[in-house]
Amino acid sequence: MDQYGTFRVGGRAEAICFPSELALLRQVVSYLSNSDIPYLVVGRGSNLLVRDGGIEGVVIILKGELTNILKDSGDGETLRAGGGATIGNLLSYCAGNGLSGLEFLAGIPGTMGGAVFMNAGAFGKELGEMVEEIAVVTRQGETEVMDRSQLVFSYRQLSMAGGTVIYSVKLRLHRDTEAEIRDRILDHLKRRRESQPLDLPSAGSVFRNPPGDYAGRLIERAGLKGTRIGGAMISRKHANFIVNSGGARAEDILSLMDLARNRVRDMTGIELKPEIRIVGRE
Ligand SMILES: Cc1cc2nc3c(=O)[nH]c(=O)nc-3n(C[C@H](O)[C@H](O)[C@H](O)COP(=O)(O)OP(=O)(O)OC[C@H]3O[C@@H](n4cnc5c(N)ncnc54)[C@H](O)[C@@H]3O)c2cc1C
Repeated sequence: MDQYGTFRVGGRAEAICFPSELALLRQVVSYLSNSDIPYLVVGRGSNLLVRDGGIEGVVIILKGELTNILKDSGDGETLRAGGGATIGNLLSYCAGNGLSGLEFLAGIPGTMGGAVFMNAGAFGKELGEMVEEIAVVTRQGETEVMDRSQLVFSYRQLSMAGGTVIYSVKLRLHRDTEAEIRDRILDHLKRRRESQPLDLPSAGSVFRNPPGDYAGRLIERAGLKGTRIGGAMISRKHANFIVNSGGARAEDILSLMDLARNRVRDMTGIELKPEIRIVGRE
């Protein structure tokens, strides 16, 4: 799985499949469910830590039609993106079509499915605010459309039944000029480059921010910036990032997470909780 996640670590999955249209996705999901074979849908793997023992069962990665971006008919201020569409492609599309609202996502290396599932956020905004409806394949392989009123977004999370795959997302945006949108995208990218270690593999923020504080600030205060275990290191630039500085194993990253959690707990009594999703066998 090291090829399918931004940390560049992790053992093998038993199988990976790349459905390129809705009918195939439905078939795969219902076959796996009926056969009691576990599955995990993966976007860019930019919020995942796959353990070294690999993944039991099948990884599903959306491709083809499931990555398309379409302007929605109607008032011209909505669009539909496939669950597998990357945030980068979506932002290019939005800029080119004068649609504003998603600029805060610039630099987040995920897919729409992953970003909605994680309620991705930055600079005080969250993607959930713009989601008008999502279309999913249920564990039984049925399709279902869920509108805003049925969606419960919270900090870095959308509540959803396990095994549900988001294959399409409808977003409500607003009109602006291409130049203004591109300026904001560039500004957000610049601010990220200044504060985040983007030159090394990572999965973004490792821990959730505890109420009223920042995980990065607490880890920095614990004196852990630059601490290494194996090929993993707590970033010197941003203490809530663990980077793969070369040849890291998932085990190294997990050990650094334990160290940070223990030191912060001893120092403040605060229990840091992971933001990244840890999957697979030890
Ligand atoms: C450098 C860097 C910076 C980052 N900055 C931010 C940031 O500012 N804000 C932020 O919120 N995040 C940030 N992240 C984390 C990450 O990019 C986001 O959470 C992103 O939205 C995850 O998308 P993904 O497609 O990579 O999901 P993945 O990591 O592949 O998956 C994450 C979870 O979503 C589920 N999932 C994926 N696709 C689907 C789908 N189609 N249907 C249902 N479930 C699905 C997976 O099963 C998994 O549980 C950053 C990561 C990096 C590497």
